[in-house]
Amino acid sequence: MAKGKVLLVLYEGGEHAIQERKLLGSLENELGIIRGYIEEQGYELVSTSDKDPEPNSIVDKELADAEIVITTPFFPAYITKTRIANAPKLKMAITAGVGSDHVDLNAANERKITVTEVTGSNVVSVAEHVIMTILVLVRNFVPAHEQAINGKWDIAAAAKQEYDLEDKVISTVGAGRIGYRVLERLVAFNPKKLYYYDYQELPADAIKKLNDLSLILNGRGDIVERVADLGDMVSRSDIVTINCPLHEKSRGLFNKELISKMKKGSYLVNTARGAITIEQDVADAVNSGHLAGYGGDVWYPQPAPPDHPWRSMKNPYGGGNAMTPHVSGTSLDAQARYSQGVKNILESYFTGKHDYRPQDVIVIDGDYATKAYGQRK
Ligand code: NAD
Repeated sequence: MAKGKVLLVLYEGGEHAIQERKLLGSLENELGIIRGYIEEQGYELVSTSDKDPEPNSIVDKELADAEIVITTPFFPAYITKTRIANAPKLKMAITAGVGSDHVDLNAANERKITVTEVTGSNVVSVAEHVIMTILVLVRNFVPAHEQAINGKWDIAAAAKQEYDLEDKVISTVGAGRIGYRVLERLVAFNPKKLYYYDYQELPADAIKKLNDLSLILNGRGDIVERVADLGDMVSRSDIVTINCPLHEKSRGLFNKELISKMKKGSYLVNTARGAITIEQDVADAVNSGHLAGYGGDVWYPQPAPPDHPWRSMKNPYGGGNAMTPHVSGTSLDAQARYSQGVKNILESYFTGKHDYRPQDVIVIDGDYATKAYGQRK
């Protein structure tokens, strides 16, 4: 008889998981070495992709006696308050990746369920995707690429909304691991100004590094500035990128009102979480041309329904949509890192030491262990 049950929820990889065994985040490849390891500990591992709809999925059935649930943000099993109430043995929720908002963290706290993630595992992957998405939008890549593969050659149609990234004002909402890496990478493009909005101030040496880098690359320091008011920051920016977690205070933050404060013709890039924006307000702003474009990889819910307004939105010139499925944080390099990170967390759990890396712990013993999920007393 097994000591307990571990439930692992991953997307189906199908033929791709067989073609590429490094696709560790797929159901077929089960985060690499994890099955053997879990079974050696005397635990049963149940893995599934059947997560929706609540309450009729295999996830709902298996949660009834699971002690640990492992999920990913890319194909999230939403661990809701109801699901937590129906999982009396649940002690730990592990996120294979970064961002644990798909777990109801307050409900986890009420039940003293520990929520951990593999902090840092994919922050470079996401920062690279942010830079790519900014360039795709500002350079108007998608309409030009569509011409290339559709036998067309209409320079004017593509160039009439194509700009340089150089000399633009670019800002980030959230300057943590990803936001800071985005700023670092942006310096190389010689922006006019880099702003950040975050209730946690960047350390002085982090600011100095960006300014020094700018001095070396662009001949001028003093490139980064913290802005206290979000509306003020977005009204001054050509490009805004969202890099903060989803929590009570960031849910629906980019609504009609805030988006209306953004410059006409500016761009919004969001690889943080879809629900930080109001989806229809974003689509309306792109469709009307108030925003020249929106891009990112995060949606709500996931998988996004076929009629999600971001699938079809386009600016009046026919561009401005740089959406992908949730892939930025799941490069093969990132998958190797978060799979190893999950194993490390499991080791800390099974040995009974609970000596997790502090940065991996989101909630524990009924309280938030991180400062990133909103300002709390
Ligand atoms: P982090 O904890 O290092 O940094 C988050 C920062 O956001 C912190 O400095 C925090 O103070 C700040 N913040 C929180 N709420 C804010 C708000 N309302 N306004 C402004 N700043 C706020 O986290 P990270 O590693 O940089 O990741 C950030 C988020 O990115 C994750 O929580 C996750 O939602 C998302 N993410 C997405 C992917 C992906 O594949 N698309 C991958 C990794 C992370």
